[in-house]
Amino acid sequence: MVGWPTIARKLPCFPPLPQCRRLAGLLLYSIITYRITAHSVSDFAQTVKQQADIVKIVEGYIRLRKAGAQNYTGLCPFHKEKSPSFSVHAVRQFYHCFGCHESGDVFSFVGKIENVGFPEAVRIVAQKCGIPLPKREFSSPEEAAGARLRAKLLELHEVATAWFEEQLRGPEGAVAREYLAGRGLTPEGIKTFHIGYAPDSFNALRDRLGSLADNETLRSSGLFASKEQGDGSQGPIYDRFRKRVMFPIANESGRVIAFTARTLETGDKAGAKYINSPETPLYTKGQVLFNLDKAKTAIRQVGFALLVEGQMDCISVFLRGIQNVIATSGTAFTEQQVALLRRHTQNVAVNFDPDDAGANAAEKSIALLTEEGFSIRIVTLDDGLDPDRFIRERGVEAYTAAVRAARSQADYLIDRARFLFPGAGAGQKVKAMNFLLPHIRRMPEKLARDQFALDAAQKLGIDSSVLREELRQAALKRRDHIETRTTALTEVERVLLRALAITDPQDERARRLAAQSLAAQPAWFEHLNTFPAMQALAVRLAGDPMDAVEDPAQKAFLAEALFAETRPPDENEVRGAIQELEERAIESRQRDLRARIAEAERRADFAELAVLTQQKLELDRALRRLHNPPRPEP
Ligand SMILES: [Zn+2]
Repeated sequence: MVGWPTIARKLPCFPPLPQCRRLAGLLLYSIITYRITAHSVSDFAQTVKQQADIVKIVEGYIRLRKAGAQNYTGLCPFHKEKSPSFSVHAVRQFYHCFGCHESGDVFSFVGKIENVGFPEAVRIVAQKCGIPLPKREFSSPEEAAGARLRAKLLELHEVATAWFEEQLRGPEGAVAREYLAGRGLTPEGIKTFHIGYAPDSFNALRDRLGSLADNETLRSSGLFASKEQGDGSQGPIYDRFRKRVMFPIANESGRVIAFTARTLETGDKAGAKYINSPETPLYTKGQVLFNLDKAKTAIRQVGFALLVEGQMDCISVFLRGIQNVIATSGTAFTEQQVALLRRHTQNVAVNFDPDDAGANAAEKSIALLTEEGFSIRIVTLDDGLDPDRFIRERGVEAYTAAVRAARSQADYLIDRARFLFPGAGAGQKVKAMNFLLPHIRRMPEKLARDQFALDAAQKLGIDSSVLREELRQAALKRRDHIETRTTALTEVERVLLRALAITDPQDERARRLAAQSLAAQPAWFEHLNTFPAMQALAVRLAGDPMDAVEDPAQKAFLAEALFAETRPPDENEVRGAIQELEERAIESRQRDLRARIAEAERRADFAELAVLTQQKLELDRALRRLHNPPRPEP
């Protein structure tokens, strides 16, 4: 495994959200002008775009490395890859992926990664830059209503969280405090995770929130339940969580969107040990990683995520200084969770409970993570302890050592196969192998599959050539994903696209030269793949060249050309590119003429032949002139 990072303790704090580039003066100016003029999303978007730095915004989602004077690269969040082909242009403020050809500006990035529309993307970027939002505008009444509802639900969750915390501190919370202390949680730890207590009441929370929202909104918050009536309608709402310790679940930005509630009852009345909020407009199960909001900075710093099953495990490990820990909340990983995690790392140490349920969840998570190209290690704790108990009983040093000693997924799976199918009988060996084969096939890299197959054969003591062959075949099966980095752009196209995209008035002559020759001799340009992009650029009045080209494929061509750029081309380069196009046009006409001359000769059409030959001579002369231009007058 390449550079598997060592675990770091007590990580330093990162600076808060990206600081935006421009100064408060500009901000003030924009607020004033905004009040006066702008009432459309797009005016506001322009203001935001001028002030946002795409590098900072993108860095909030994925890791970027400086790759040149003007650009940064990282792993593309929009397609699977192992080596970075995603680039961000710091000067021109756009991104482009050389793997999947996705490109655009700061808004299309945020829109795509957050899965929201343009207006929402503008608002998110504005918020990240600390630009005050104007009166909200929406593309449809439904969108407006949806946004209003989500905002209200966030508010309700915020108030509920504070209220649960208050209840935990109050007299009724004594039993919960006792429980939490018994699990080794300090008051500071409780505060860090905003752990609270839902008292034994059917209407205490309803009374608290009743003045903040109407019944329907309260109902859709998931904080309440109701019984279906005889006529099929829903009865009055009542508090869903009662006599339970409340663990808030936050989204990636740290806003509470749901709760996990642990019962303090014992016996028949207790119900499920843990219950979660139902799905709501804020919360979809399997789309949240517990603690990612707090862990993401540490994950990037130490280079891997520590994945545990339970929220208590996660809290316990985090509070003891291992801050790159996240939890799946007792289920196997989902694809959405993998996508969330991928933005921060592709290295995961899995530390699930050693029981059967834990081992099954671990296997499923390993399978999914492997398929998604992650590097995985498996942490096993002595004496079948879960992470929470282990770290409390043995201390953080011992736990850190266990994480460091994590086994590779191959070692872990082979051991698991031997545990599930013990014995040296041929039947058991076949079963063990059948358990391993799908895991082997799933690994994206041939080398890793070969090694896995070899280890499996050795450790399982498989000497049958038939079985060995099957392992070998499994290693061969998965075809490595080949990242296409081919480019259809020629040097001429690069120069011309860059010239046409010039924005600096100082370089205007190069831009005009390209635009004029495109207008005068479209035939020289027509056969180029990038002709539509060139046309769009040539007629653009002002503004961002990336905005002038709308077709996604053409936009990708332009992005590619602009990334190759260190400075805009000068007039001579543009002239050279145009000359080459002219030459190609002449050569193509020469070919055409040669064919027609041959045809005229065959028909013995001497009149035609004379005309064609004359034309061809002229073309030859033109071509010679291009190659040896007359010396300019002194
Ligand atoms: Zn990509």
